[in-house]
Amino acid sequence: MSIVERERVLSADKRYVWHPYTPMQQYIAETNPLVIQRAQGSRLFDMDGRSYLDGNASWWTSLLGHNHPRLVNALREQAERLCHTSLAGVTHEPAALFAEALVQAAPPGLCRVFFSDNGSTAVEAALKMSAQFWAQNGAPERTRFVALAGAFHGETLGASALSGVPEFASPLAPHALDCVHLTSPAQDLTLALEELETELRHNGERTAAIVLEPLVQGAAGMRVYAAEYLRRARALADAYGPLLVFDEVFTGYGRTGSMWAAERAGVQPDILCSAKGLSGGVLPFAATLTTERVFEGFLGGSARAFYHGHTYCGNPLGAHVAREVLAVYRDEGILQAAAPKPQRLQQAFASMSELPNVEHVRCCGMLGARDLSGGRGYLERSGWRVYHEALERGAYVRPLGHVVYLAPPLNISDADLDELLGIVHQAVAAVASG
Ligand code: PMP
Repeated sequence: MSIVERERVLSADKRYVWHPYTPMQQYIAETNPLVIQRAQGSRLFDMDGRSYLDGNASWWTSLLGHNHPRLVNALREQAERLCHTSLAGVTHEPAALFAEALVQAAPPGLCRVFFSDNGSTAVEAALKMSAQFWAQNGAPERTRFVALAGAFHGETLGASALSGVPEFASPLAPHALDCVHLTSPAQDLTLALEELETELRHNGERTAAIVLEPLVQGAAGMRVYAAEYLRRARALADAYGPLLVFDEVFTGYGRTGSMWAAERAGVQPDILCSAKGLSGGVLPFAATLTTERVFEGFLGGSARAFYHGHTYCGNPLGAHVAREVLAVYRDEGILQAAAPKPQRLQQAFASMSELPNVEHVRCCGMLGARDLSGGRGYLERSGWRVYHEALERGAYVRPLGHVVYLAPPLNISDADLDELLGIVHQAVAAVASG
């Protein structure tokens, strides 16, 4: 690709595109962005043909690597048959058969699938389901939601109300749902357990749902916490009645070592939200799974139905690809093959903790993270210095403020994983010495 073509893309980009999570004034004035042209496996390629190991599986989606041939074929096959039809009162093979496969792969007890487009809409559906479930099943006073400090559940106004990341939530505070944010177990497990207990003792009977990212709070800065908290949340939800919602948009599909964090923790939620890896980074696609009890709460007269549904929910392309994703997990033994890799990751991260600018190293399955010393959250720029050093060395490692982390595809080869770990080590060391 010539310089002229790259310049053409950049000029259109800077003139017209409003980028997500990007301070646009600085971006337009200062940023010379990576212009990605294609991707394969664990690598992104820019317009000059340079390759970059994808350290976050492109916002946590491409868990089977980019352009897995079976997923590309499934997409092509389905595109030739049927690209889209609605799911309102009609059905089609991709949605029906994927729902069946997903229930078979899901934690026990989750047996109904509501489709939507992305992680935020999967969570939004869960929030609205929880609210409506109680409104029409004898407990309209249950309107409160419980979430964690540092929580992140997506971009819609409802999901944003649950956000415990101050930089994202504060501008929306006047519009928020009734949601309390409790101390995160990643900060202080004992205090978090006490607070959860107290909150439910006082407000449990007016709480609609407890919403948690199980085991890892992703956008908060990859905060890893103990399964004990989830078990306690289950017990308290049983005692006081609220639904337990697990947002597995990030943790699902094997990121934490098991297919679901719920499974790893041995806890069954009432509702589970899944997106990202669900469609292998090929298409926007998401699912909200519920127990039969929640589903039955919407049966009866037509006024009790869930009047919610996005135009593209259950889209045949997404559903067919998502079914193929599950088939690849099965046929290629993705979780079994990935099982030894976290040890490599842990060793490399442990050795990084010797660097002077690194603190609080943590790992969970195919996720490794560490804080850069003196960091102060999402707006902190130190992680971006590591980003640029890594980019020069051939890896794409977008930080979360002062948190530098790796969440690569689960099927990254050992050689690519070692190269990626080596690059990140060098990049962090370069920032320490610079
Ligand atoms: N929930 C969690 C836990 C997430 O990490 C995210 C996105 N990073 C979302 C929901 C929202 O997903 P999406 O960006 O696909 O809307």
